[in-house]
Amino acid sequence: MKTVDFRPCECGIKRGFLDRRAAGKALGRAQAKRDRQAQRMDGGHPILRENRAYECDYGMWHLTKQSRRAYEEHAARHAA
Ligand SMILES: [Zn+2]
Repeated sequence: MKTVDFRPCECGIKRGFLDRRAAGKALGRAQAKRDRQAQRMDGGHPILRENRAYECDYGMWHLTKQSRRAYEEHAARHAA
């Protein structure tokens, strides 16, 4: 079963969700995927997940992605 629950938004982001619930569902799927990847990397400690959903000026919901830089800053804080 394949469902498409996002559509292009007027702000220019291709993945726009109609409401918080739809965005949250997609976010949960993305986080589950990254948790599995994180566990392979460091042996069972999922890294802090900074992805979240936010509502843009056009009233649609988008997901933010954790940047490479954010990950490195997080790793640096916890190594100290
Ligand atoms: Zn938007």
